[in-house]
Amino acid sequence: MEVRRPRRVMILVNPHSGRGQALQLFTAHIEGMLTEAAVPYSLIITEHQNHARELVRKADLSQWDALVIMSGDGLLFEVINGLMEREDWQEAIQTPLGILPGGSGNALAASVHHYSQSPPAWNEELLLSCGFMLCKGLVGSLDLVSIHLSSQQRLFSFLSLAWGFVADVDIESEKYRHVGAIRFLMGTLVRLYSLKVYQGKLAYLAVKETPKPQKGTITASHPPSTPQHPSLCSSLPCQLIPTSPNQNHHRNHSTTNSNPITSVITTKGTETQGDAKTKTLVDSLLPGLDQPVPESWTVVKEEDFVLVLAIYQSHLAEDLWTAPGAMADDGFIHLFYVTAGISRPALLRLFLAMEKGSHLACGCPHLVYKKVKALRLEPISPQGVISVDGEMVEYGPVQAQIHPGLARLIYG
Ligand code: ADP
Ligand code: MG
Repeated sequence: MEVRRPRRVMILVNPHSGRGQALQLFTAHIEGMLTEAAVPYSLIITEHQNHARELVRKADLSQWDALVIMSGDGLLFEVINGLMEREDWQEAIQTPLGILPGGSGNALAASVHHYSQSPPAWNEELLLSCGFMLCKGLVGSLDLVSIHLSSQQRLFSFLSLAWGFVADVDIESEKYRHVGAIRFLMGTLVRLYSLKVYQGKLAYLAVKETPKPQKGTITASHPPSTPQHPSLCSSLPCQLIPTSPNQNHHRNHSTTNSNPITSVITTKGTETQGDAKTKTLVDSLLPGLDQPVPESWTVVKEEDFVLVLAIYQSHLAEDLWTAPGAMADDGFIHLFYVTAGISRPALLRLFLAMEKGSHLACGCPHLVYKKVKALRLEPISPQGVISVDGEMVEYGPVQAQIHPGLARLIYG
């Protein structure tokens, strides 16, 4: 077991996220906890959009044991993309990342809290839970998804790719950010009233389900669902660790700094290409966006949708348990789509059921769920919104593939 004292944690705070109280929340709830647990940190307050992205792109990462985000999901999206834009991305993306919910869209925080098998928590209670996980410092793997946009840019995503209803709510509800997480409910009700149908083509590469093991046979164990490598603060005396409180979804996102998709020759099973210093991460499952999808893919016959949502964490928001079986490092994209023809009450029922993760049991014939490794979406509707991790990206054809366990996350 790796036991070492922490060097230092960089904590990035977006003072405008959520209700604009991230800094106050940090001071009120987290500062003392970190001091008590003797976790040294430096607080950096972001000054503008993409500040964090630029900062981590240039940072001397040998100075930092972890990069922690106190904001919504949007700031972590910046940090992950900043790390992946570095020449030494392979090493940089191994820097443990942490999340403290300070935004209005705190999906990853809600997900990691859920993975810790604690009962649901919201607001300050969720913040305390994530603060406690940060002090414990267990580090596990985090899947990332690489996303190709029609402009040849590539982004990295840890949470979701959405089009239609969910993406519209994500972006339209930005104006209600001051009310906090409830903005998604308000946005959902408004969008429900003016329900739209979105035309497009969807295709995916399904995960081959392995047959259930027969009784008495020995099978390989599943990938770890709890972090295996304690690496931060693991030498802290127990009495210094605060008690867990649980023991008893923006703005137009600029893609100017994104990774260009480099054309690479790939051999089967090769994930990177190039010499040690300038290796490129290869998306071996994805043909060019101008090429047809491979024959092994499934092309969805419907072309009229209410929503398409690819999610790779359990929660889409604090109170939306969207992908009940999802884990941080399960290696799956959980693909949901809802076809046109669903009534408003039926769609509302789905979202209400999602709070308890029971939407798949609603028997709704319009809802389809697949575990996939890659997907492509080609909108036909001339205008619309596509969101990645709750941030608006360029509208047009888009494709994605999973990279299991590419990043590391503090949770557990
Ligand atoms: P929320 O959950 O409230 O949407 P996010 O963390 O998603 O919070 O941040 C919202 C947006 O603010 C993101 O696009 C992020 O890049 C951007 N951002 C980060 N720091 C700042 C800042 N200092 N001023 C303005 N926008 C910022
Ligand atoms: Mg956000």
